[in-house]
Amino acid sequence: MCLFCKIINKEIPSNIILENEEFLAFHDINPKAPVHILAIPKIHVDSFNEVNPELMASMTKFIQNIAVEFQLDESGYRVITNIGENGGQEVKHLHFHILGGAKLKWEHFSDANPQDFL
Ligand code: 5GP
Ligand code: ZN
Repeated sequence: MCLFCKIINKEIPSNIILENEEFLAFHDINPKAPVHILAIPKIHVDSFNEVNPELMASMTKFIQNIAVEFQLDESGYRVITNIGENGGQEVKHLHFHILGGAKLKWEHFSDANPQDFL
């Protein structure tokens, strides 16, 4: 069973902020912003590559609810899902990072020089 499935089953403790039948949201153990929440489906999906659009529709609503609950909807926030090796995905269970609570940076995604690829 993967790490996040264990969190869903409460075999591994987490700081849960929102839960319903389909989804779970909890604080990231290693926050990269004042607010750093992870939102996951309770069914195991490896990554965004495999998620079906119907699940994404309700996942979208769940993420929007988190943004409202944490008062990020007006100040702004970022939603990220890392996919596979180049995406930097470490946990192979679909998850969305919800980052906010401060002005976020937007720079330096890789050591490759984007100008070399123009
Ligand atoms: P990824 O790199 O796969 O997109 O993100 C995985 C995230 O899960 C990382 O931000 C990491 O800090 C977080 N994480 C890893 N293990 C745990 C854990 O046991 N509990 C919680 N709450 N977060 C975790
Ligand atoms: Zn899983």
